[in-house]
Amino acid sequence: MNLYIRSGIVFGWALLWTAQGSIAQQLSYCGTPPDLPHWRWYMHHREAGVELREDTTTLYVPVMVYSVFQNKDHVSNNIHFILRTLSRANSDFRRANIRFYLFEEPDTLINDRWYSHDYYDGQEMMEANNIDGAINIYFVGSPAGNCGYYSPASDAVAIAYSCGGYSATISHELGHFLSLPHTFLGWEGTEYFPNSKASDYSHVVFRPIETVDGSNCQEAGDGFCDTRPDYLSYRWHCDSDSMSSFSLTDPNGAQFHADGRNIMSYSTDYCPTMFSKEQIQAMRTNLTRRRIELVHDRPPQRPIPPTKISTLLFPYGHPVPPDTPVISWNTVPNAMYYYVQVSRRRSFNGPLVLDTITTDTALWIPGLRSGNTYYVRIYPYNLVTFDNGWSERMKFRTAKTSSTFTAARHDGITLYPTCVQRGMPVRVYTGEIRVESITILSLYGKTVDHTKVRPSEVLTLPTDALAPGMYILQLYNRKGMIRRAVFLVQ
Ligand SMILES: [Zn+2]
Repeated sequence: MNLYIRSGIVFGWALLWTAQGSIAQQLSYCGTPPDLPHWRWYMHHREAGVELREDTTTLYVPVMVYSVFQNKDHVSNNIHFILRTLSRANSDFRRANIRFYLFEEPDTLINDRWYSHDYYDGQEMMEANNIDGAINIYFVGSPAGNCGYYSPASDAVAIAYSCGGYSATISHELGHFLSLPHTFLGWEGTEYFPNSKASDYSHVVFRPIETVDGSNCQEAGDGFCDTRPDYLSYRWHCDSDSMSSFSLTDPNGAQFHADGRNIMSYSTDYCPTMFSKEQIQAMRTNLTRRRIELVHDRPPQRPIPPTKISTLLFPYGHPVPPDTPVISWNTVPNAMYYYVQVSRRRSFNGPLVLDTITTDTALWIPGLRSGNTYYVRIYPYNLVTFDNGWSERMKFRTAKTSSTFTAARHDGITLYPTCVQRGMPVRVYTGEIRVESITILSLYGKTVDHTKVRPSEVLTLPTDALAPGMYILQLYNRKGMIRRAVFLVQ
């Protein structure tokens, strides 16, 4: 009985690089050709006795990421998806001491043919866009009907959106890029039926069939002796030990279970988690001997420390007028970008009020409604830190009425006007509150001015020295501090 559904893999030698006219309903796992020149180079040099030095220094490798969309209307912000996908790669390559980082901001390409491509259009896409000095990774709708593939001809990787995120596909394809073949090398296009003898397949498998006793491990299968024999070239589910639940039989009649932990196997997604030592050595050798232009001995930036934003700098406490819709937060050390989402819902499900990336620590949010609660979360990242996670979920309220051009009156403090022309003073009516000093902050949290004032019922603040924009006034008295926002226009 065949318990294992072959998911439509067209993987024969002859068929491999033929164009597929239509997009498969269900994606095959991997479309990388079995014959990888980088692997052949490694095996040839190993056979020739070239010393392949073991080295454990961390190799930093830049990746250039492209998001391909069908058309303008389908372009969406998928930075969180990209960062999660790269986090997975870095987690899988930790043991290999290989760290991937973003070469630069991910690029967006709009092209219907590239979005759902066959191998020819995929090659065109890669050759038109690849840059030197980084591993080029393309996220598309359908990479020639597969979850992903590495193209030796174009030396780049394509991955389906549906197979990215926290899935092993990225590490599998990067493994191919760095010279690794499948653990079942030679079985591509051949379906192994459990309980059948491996020797029955010797006429169709194009490598010697690897035996359990390891006697032919160098010239059979993937050529690595610390990866177990594997005959399964279709996707399969592992058991709780990450092994195949059924046994396979080698040419000597020895039974074994395939190892689903190996990233270069076809076990389904929660099983693969590791590369073997020999695989790691091959990948590191590939980088240091064949792709030295991709190797850096240090990252381009410092990592972001594992701290989270937990409060907004503005608004703080009081409702914000809906027509002065600005939020700001404290700078996160080493963060280069902030991915910001604003939602009406605590869950952030459904349409978002704002979904954007900024290099600033402040944002203007148009279209807020009065008398509503809004939730904010912020994901700081830079070229090397992808996995710092979301900030705490923060919230603010909008006031029932707008107040930009009217007096803002809270806690006995009145500010007038709150939207002022540059050069005109802002008046602060303090009433009985004895304000002793005022700090003016830019929206980026930087102190622009700090002055001690003589307590008075009306304080006058000149604005001549300030650039147009929004500022936060922090008014201090003995009991504490009160914040107000002021707009300055030209
Ligand atoms: Zn593969």
